This record gives sequence, structure tokens and C-alpha cells, in this order.
Amino acid sequence: MMQTDCIFCKIIAGQIPCYKVLENDYALAFLDIGPISTGHTLLIPKTHVDRIDQCPPDILAQTAQVLPQLAHAVAAAVNAPAFNILCNNGSAAGQVVRHLHFHIIPRQEKDGVFTQWPAFKYPEGKADMLCQKIIENLKK
Ligand code: 5GP
Ligand code: ZN
Repeated sequence: MMQTDCIFCKIIAGQIPCYKVLENDYALAFLDIGPISTGHTLLIPKTHVDRIDQCPPDILAQTAQVLPQLAHAVAAAVNAPAFNILCNNGSAAGQVVRHLHFHIIPRQEKDGVFTQWPAFKYPEGKADMLCQKIIENLKK
């Protein structure tokens, strides 16, 4: 279902041009207009869904089906030995376009694309408590 104020729905409908690399009944992939690395590509479901936690599993599965081949093709096109798959969900996570999308970001050694990974250790008891909460939430 198209959402009229959604830029990605407009791309799907052909109302906004894009550099398309893949299209099937369920999904579309095209070059990101503001790449953070050469070849940066977006994969989107043709059905409008805001974010992954609102996505019916069958739509997600249909979209993700092309991801292995697409990611390989994108990386190979720019001779990248590596890539990130990124999916921002919610503005605090950096999501700007509220139509579910997967970034395929080709990577080179020491390219400086992501410079922060602020890892830390849980204090005693915290990991146990978190596990329990997540397990409870999965029952809902
Ligand atoms: P987000 O921050 O929501 O995860 O990422 C949205 C991405 O969509 C950004 O990387 C941005 O450059 C890209 N984008 C936004 N508008 C357009 C557009 O009209 N065409 C294309 N090809 N990419 C877009
Ligand atoms: Zn949309």
C-alpha cells in the first residue's frame, strides 16, 4: 500500500527517479542519493512499512530474499572486500526516511566510514535482568 507523503513509495511508483539496480514483485533496490561509500545501495520492500518491528514477517522475508545476491553484487561492483548491512529504526537510531530500508554499505580497509563502536561491559546482574525482560517481551 502506497503512503502518499513517503519519498520511497514515490520512487516505487516511478514518481521520483532513482538509479535502480534490482526490482521484483516485492522489493526494489537503488543507489543511495547521499552515499557514505561508493556503491551505497538501499533495499526496500514495495509495501510501505515504517520500520522493521512493524513489518509482517512474510514481507520481511520476501525483501531479504534478494539480500545475499544483491550485497555480493554491490560489493563486487566496487571491489569491496567487505560491507555493512544497516537498518535504522526510529529517529534516535538515525532513521530519516520512514519506509523500511536496508543500507548496503561497501567497505574498504581503514575507510573511516564508521569510527565509533562504543562497547562497554554490563555491571553484575544487569545481563541476567535484561535477558529476563526480553524473554518476557517475546511472549507478548
Ligand atoms: P535513513 O537515515 O533513514 O536510514 O536513510 C535514508 C537514506 O535515504 C539516506 O542515506 C539518504 O541519502 C537516502 N535518500 C533520501 N532520499 C532519497 C532519494 O530521494 N533518493 C535516493 N536514492 N536516496 C534517498
Ligand atoms: Zn513508503
